[in-house]
Amino acid sequence: MRKFLGRLNNIFFKVFGAISGLTIFFALLLGIVFIRLYTKSAQRTRQEQLCHVSEQLATRLGDTIAYGDYEGTMQFLEIYNSFETAELWFVSENSAISEFENDLPGLDMAIATTQEEFLEVIDKTYEGTQVANVFYSDIHMATAIVVGTPVRGSSGTIIGVLVSIETLEDLDGAIEGIGRMIFVSSALALLVSGLIAFMFARRITEPVRQMRLMTRDMIEGNYKLKTGINRKDEIGEMARSVDMLSDKLLENEEERKNMEQMRLDFFANVSHELRTPITVVRAYAESLVDGVVTTKEEQEEYYSRILRECSNMERLVGDLLTLSKMQNPNFKIEKELVSLTQILEDAVGGVSAIAAEKGISISPSGQFDEPCMVMGDYGRLRQMFMVVFDNALKFSHEGSTVHVDVKCSGNAVEITIRDEGVGIAPEELPNIFDKFYKSRLLDNEKGSGLGLAIAKYICEKHNGTVRVESELGKGTAFTFVFGKTS
Ligand code: ADP
Repeated sequence: MRKFLGRLNNIFFKVFGAISGLTIFFALLLGIVFIRLYTKSAQRTRQEQLCHVSEQLATRLGDTIAYGDYEGTMQFLEIYNSFETAELWFVSENSAISEFENDLPGLDMAIATTQEEFLEVIDKTYEGTQVANVFYSDIHMATAIVVGTPVRGSSGTIIGVLVSIETLEDLDGAIEGIGRMIFVSSALALLVSGLIAFMFARRITEPVRQMRLMTRDMIEGNYKLKTGINRKDEIGEMARSVDMLSDKLLENEEERKNMEQMRLDFFANVSHELRTPITVVRAYAESLVDGVVTTKEEQEEYYSRILRECSNMERLVGDLLTLSKMQNPNFKIEKELVSLTQILEDAVGGVSAIAAEKGISISPSGQFDEPCMVMGDYGRLRQMFMVVFDNALKFSHEGSTVHVDVKCSGNAVEITIRDEGVGIAPEELPNIFDKFYKSRLLDNEKGSGLGLAIAKYICEKHNGTVRVESELGKGTAFTFVFGKTS
């Protein structure tokens, strides 16, 4: 559990770090951009308003001074005072105007600071145009918009400067509020990103944990488990691969067990097949050595039995040798252009004596006269047909016929060898090509059960196929198909 938490934490912190880093970065970026834009636009609006009002005030002030229109100016100042927050100074070098000082409330008739920025605004205004600037005012202890407006007398000459000051404290407050909002929302975003990171990390670590457990089981040889993960993302793909891997390993394991079993069976079969003739030979030889057998006829009988058993063993060992060669994946058949019909004829010639002995006739049909050339090993192909002819004769009744049909058209050669013998039971059919699978019939006393296995290997080494059809009591047909080369 602790280990799991450790792993989760690892991924969790990585995801959390990435998400929270991004969140904080964007919150800061957005905050700074927003505050800058907000400040700029708010300042601009206020400055425009202040310039506009100051312009009107300066005109009124000029009129007051020139024509003595106190009432109008007073009203204007009153209205102005009621909704504007700006501070107004009137600066003039003309001593004659000082008499207005007490009559105009809300208007300071002097400059209350020596701060350079203020003096600069006043100086510039004296040049004839309205001047606006934003700077930190020492006496107000806040950033302020300062607008200087020229006040003109009746002749149009500048008789003073109206300085309007509006501090931006409230704007600072608003910015502070926005900053706080951004901070709170960033903290909330961090909390949410922590939650997302936790869920995200769990979604990754849980299947990884499952896969890890499964692979550990696989290392210990248990291939039957499945991850049970069904997702459409990369993790799902990985889980499917792990499942496929375990299937494959299970398959291999079963194949390996089968092979092992087959190998053991093979050894058991070989030992069994060899032990019987050896026991017989030993018994006969012992009898001869001990002098138990006295008559000449009996002795000859014993010698010929020993000889028969020896040739049986020789055949068995020969078959085993061929089989082991054929099973070797590196074994390559020496191929040359050969006539399949010629090989068939040769094989028929080889078994004709046994056929005649049993009164069985071999009847060719189809394109037996055509060469039917294929690439192959003459000797091996002859051996293959001999196995099938041997069986056909062995399992046929006296006086029956073995039919050999050749179809040599298109790109393939098809050869069918059909007998009218005992036939094979349907449940036995799938096994007849297995090594050591043989009939217990008396006719098959000498059979080793290796013939058809060898025949099938030879056929496959020639890229051919073999199939068998049979009906109990009616007969059996083996059909070989090879690719033609001409
Ligand atoms: P063997 O002939 O030495 O027993 P094979 O591998 O040649 O071994 O044949 C395996 C088994 O297949 C035979 O023992 C027999 O049961 C069956 N079989 C093969 N050919 C025929 C056939 N023509 N008719 C009936 N059974 C057959």
